[in-house]
Amino acid sequence: MSLSDEQFLRYSRHLLMADIGEQGQQTLLQSHVLIVGLGGLGCPVALYLAAAGIGRLSLCDADTVDITNLQRQILYKTEDCDQLKVDCAKTALQQLNPAIDVVAHASEISAEILELGADIVVDCTDNLAARQLLNCHCYQRATPLVSASAIGWEGQLVSFDFKANRRLCYNCIIDENAGDPTMNCANAGVVGPVLGAMGSLQAATVIRMLLGQFDQHGEMQRYDAKTGRWLYLTASPKPLCAICATE
Ligand SMILES: [Zn+2]
Repeated sequence: MSLSDEQFLRYSRHLLMADIGEQGQQTLLQSHVLIVGLGGLGCPVALYLAAAGIGRLSLCDADTVDITNLQRQILYKTEDCDQLKVDCAKTALQQLNPAIDVVAHASEISAEILELGADIVVDCTDNLAARQLLNCHCYQRATPLVSASAIGWEGQLVSFDFKANRRLCYNCIIDENAGDPTMNCANAGVVGPVLGAMGSLQAATVIRMLLGQFDQHGEMQRYDAKTGRWLYLTASPKPLCAICATE
């Protein structure tokens, strides 16, 4: 199927690019991305992916909008307080791009939602237990996983193409000595644009993966907004990783 006149205009800045073009845009339109967590990371991820014309976005978050979210969660307005995040997000995303399909799951992430068969899972959660669940599921299903986190002035991004690489996963790179794992945005604070930067990078990574242009499996990048510096880390597989050393 060729693009409509409206789509030619809407996606014209993609169509101008040799490595996206009409074929790449068709690929994006036929893709299904699951975004887990609609907070400070999930908001920019969802906005950019809806704008880019990802044909189907599944959103998963059990929370309602709170006034303390508005400092960084850019999908929501003051009047959205006390409403479900996924419902507010769905309304905003459909206003941005009415032709895409947005499915709202107002619940914690579950095996049922993960079984819906997204092409890529985007980890925008704020806790280790959810991250480990996503890592385990994505590894088993060979689904690419794009994960980010942020706290204070610092953000971190790491992605896994489990279709192409069966060694090295999120479980391999968890640093058990890296401070208190119970620290999160709620008790330690975070600067909004740091989440915006990391979420934007997640969205860009998703687009690259869908277009088959991703080759940074397990490479971690860290951004320190206080110094403006980036750090790139190469991880190695854990010899006895419970997830990826078992095949
Ligand atoms: Zn592993």
